[in-house]
Amino acid sequence: MAHVSGRGYWSGRPITLTFLPGKPNAGIVFRRVDLPGRPEIQSIASNRRDTSLRTTLVGNSCHVEMVEHVAAALYAMDVDNCVIECDAPEMPGMDGSALAFAVALERSGLRKQPATSCEVEFAIPLRVGNNDQWILAIPSCDPGLTLQYQLDYGPDSSIPASTYTYKLERDSFAQKIAPARTFLTESEARGLQSQGVASHVTYRDLVVFGPNGPIDNSPRFEDECSRHKLLDLIGDLSLCGLRVQGKIIAHRSGHILNGTLAEAFSKLKDSELPNRNRRAA
Ligand SMILES: [Zn+2]
Repeated sequence: MAHVSGRGYWSGRPITLTFLPGKPNAGIVFRRVDLPGRPEIQSIASNRRDTSLRTTLVGNSCHVEMVEHVAAALYAMDVDNCVIECDAPEMPGMDGSALAFAVALERSGLRKQPATSCEVEFAIPLRVGNNDQWILAIPSCDPGLTLQYQLDYGPDSSIPASTYTYKLERDSFAQKIAPARTFLTESEARGLQSQGVASHVTYRDLVVFGPNGPIDNSPRFEDECSRHKLLDLIGDLSLCGLRVQGKIIAHRSGHILNGTLAEAFSKLKDSELPNRNRRAA
């Protein structure tokens, strides 16, 4: 069991998450313990709803939002079955990264279950998006998943272009990816606060880029933004319900496009997942 407490970025509401072991093959489930009947929402692509700047899941007449950093930590730490009890709908923003979730899961003493999932190969490349923003998934017979995120907001952006490539590994996630924080431009931050959201959030709670770089904050990595986008990609991809094997290259993608890729993976037929068939034989 592990606990993480904090406040939602958007709502400002306090929330405590309790991570409990899930039954084998039950997947990742969010349980709203603040609601009558403690309804559950499965963390799967078909429950995803398009929302701006975050990933929201809907099911059983309720929702959870900003799940991507929690989902990324679970996926990267090889947790396939987990119940996350939450006493509010919005996940804690913490420092804008997934570090608190990764550390809590590591300390909880993860257990290997008998029905351990295997990585799945996929037979044909998948591509989602358009010429400006896209994600390409390339099959490979080699074990593991390598991800690359190409960030480029153009020459006039205060956020510098960067590319980060990472082979997903439980042992390096907490050092290389989990600490990378959410970021915004100063005008995006002002726009959100003028709408009355995130009013408690300060320049210290995430990275806000002004014309001369991060305001009242220092980067944790030179390429922190592309690392964070890669973190979001891992969390959103996890909704496909598969341990994907291969290479994924994302160019300027966001949550909606990441979710589209997860949906495409979740809809692959068994004939398009060759090693799943071999295991079943
Ligand atoms: Zn994020």
